[in-house]
Amino acid sequence: MSDIPAGKSPNYLIGAHVSTAGGVDNAPKNAYRIGANAFALFLKNQRRWFDKPYPPKKVEAFKRNLNSLGFLIDSVLPHGGYLINLCSPDPQKAEKSYLALKDEIERAHLLGLKYINFHPGAHLGKYTEREALEIIAERINRLIEETEQVVLVLETTAGQGSNLGYRFEHLAQIIELVEDKSRVGVCIDTCHIFAAGYDISTEKGYFQVFQEFEEVVGFKYLKGVHLNDSKTPLGSRKDRHAPLGEGYIGLTPFRLMMVDNRFEGIPLILETPEPHRWPQEIKLLREFSLLR
Ligand code: ZN
Ligand code: MN
Ligand code: MN
Repeated sequence: MSDIPAGKSPNYLIGAHVSTAGGVDNAPKNAYRIGANAFALFLKNQRRWFDKPYPPKKVEAFKRNLNSLGFLIDSVLPHGGYLINLCSPDPQKAEKSYLALKDEIERAHLLGLKYINFHPGAHLGKYTEREALEIIAERINRLIEETEQVVLVLETTAGQGSNLGYRFEHLAQIIELVEDKSRVGVCIDTCHIFAAGYDISTEKGYFQVFQEFEEVVGFKYLKGVHLNDSKTPLGSRKDRHAPLGEGYIGLTPFRLMMVDNRFEGIPLILETPEPHRWPQEIKLLREFSLLR
């Protein structure tokens, strides 16, 4: 365990995407154990469309563990399942995606959480980008109408295949079309934006890219960050996470982010590939945050 206990460094909410093996209530414990004061989790089996509802006891245990271990509600960023594609050109898959995401929103709400993070979608060559962005926004509007409170957090992508979200403009265009803007947000994935061509690997690049993010989307919509280095180069349009400092990005943006108050108070989540190294990665990030 890190020597800085969870909940003790509230300015920067740092954690990882932890396991829920054995039940959703284990996620806060798994996060605490690695020295995190933030975490991400899947709300159901991420490779299936649907899953059993939570036993009420598990919901109570989740809330109890979250509380007793000192996690803020804002520090938890659930991640949606992998099958969800809100702009699927296949009508059956589009409907399943809609219902699966709706179920995840309801699960987040049941657990007392504020966010659900997901990838905008892939048009599979059947729609233009503009058409797909409009379809996504329309379905988000309907999801917001049919559910309560939870903020739908769109993640930037590497732009692999026909995935949208590889330009900040894509997220901005969806937000523009969402009626209730209090229920939409964004999550920046450092590996994804770098692979999409945003060069955050140098100090100059870091400030330019986040200035551009402010102008195009706005930090007021930022609800989370996924902290990953990239196994593939700038603009490669591939989604391959590397441990911090061991990919093409390097430590520069992570060092800068931990003293940049635009990133204070929002969950900063490691999705790096070697979970046994998370305690060290979290410790390193905390050290960066104490440097100023
Ligand atoms: Zn993601
Ligand atoms: Mn991510
Ligand atoms: Mn990824």
